[in-house]
Amino acid sequence: MTFRTRFAPSPTGPLHLGHAYSAILAHDMARACHGDFILRIEDIDQSRARPEWEAQIYDDLKWLGLGWDADIRRQSDELESYEAALEQLWGKGILYGCSCNRKDIQAAMSAPQEGVEQPIGPDGIIYPRTCSVKPQPNERPRTMALRLNMDSVVIPANNQFSFEETGAGPNRETGFICFDGEYARSGLGDIVVARRDMGTSYHLSVVLDDAAQDITHVVRGQDLFDATRIHVVLQHFLDLPTPTYHHHQLIRDAEGKRLAKRDDARAIRLFRDEGASPDDIRRMVGL
Ligand code: GLU
Repeated sequence: MTFRTRFAPSPTGPLHLGHAYSAILAHDMARACHGDFILRIEDIDQSRARPEWEAQIYDDLKWLGLGWDADIRRQSDELESYEAALEQLWGKGILYGCSCNRKDIQAAMSAPQEGVEQPIGPDGIIYPRTCSVKPQPNERPRTMALRLNMDSVVIPANNQFSFEETGAGPNRETGFICFDGEYARSGLGDIVVARRDMGTSYHLSVVLDDAAQDITHVVRGQDLFDATRIHVVLQHFLDLPTPTYHHHQLIRDAEGKRLAKRDDARAIRLFRDEGASPDDIRRMVGL
């Protein structure tokens, strides 16, 4: 099987040194295996995505010498495929509409359990399932968020969900990573598969796109290691293959904080303007 990986930035700000590390690593792994390196623009959050940031991504990647192999996939062009997957999941009876906002969730969490620590999953506080008991319409609702009902998790035959990790999670998790249905229920919670404002979610789109683009190896930052369990559960429900995952270390600033889009000071564009070369960027990120 040809090694095929992707770089999947969101055009919501400048690419910084952390992105450079991720893109160069994925590119070099693909080239070392005579495989493919492809590009995906993750722009489902149209309130934050900007064409000028997308153009800057292409420009920075070309300048870094990272050529991509297939047509670029832009998530905002794929909304129909996300709709189709939601329809499939709705048809299986494993989604429910949720009208709770952040405040409702906080209120439901704090009222009966004062003093008890709130369970946290990859997406923050585990949803208290308030809407899961409400009667659901026959048709998939379009005006509210949709959550995956983890009570309906059908555990795979060997009683385990699993994926192969060739990099490492934040706690050095590596190798064959397993978890069971009980963990999916209590550790992940009823995850949002479609946000009200987007009609999809990062989790749903990423698993559908990785499958549609035949990705065999997902190379990305350790900050997404915990979300991978969500992706594996979704792959199970959508009958999609699970790629191999390679989570890498994060590039941090001088204070040890992870770089974010707002860290414009580390933007590749600024280093370019100051006369840095692509090799300088490689050296800066240790590649
Ligand atoms: N779009 C995500 C980001 O820019 C990356 C998602 C992924 O690699 O799965 O952080």
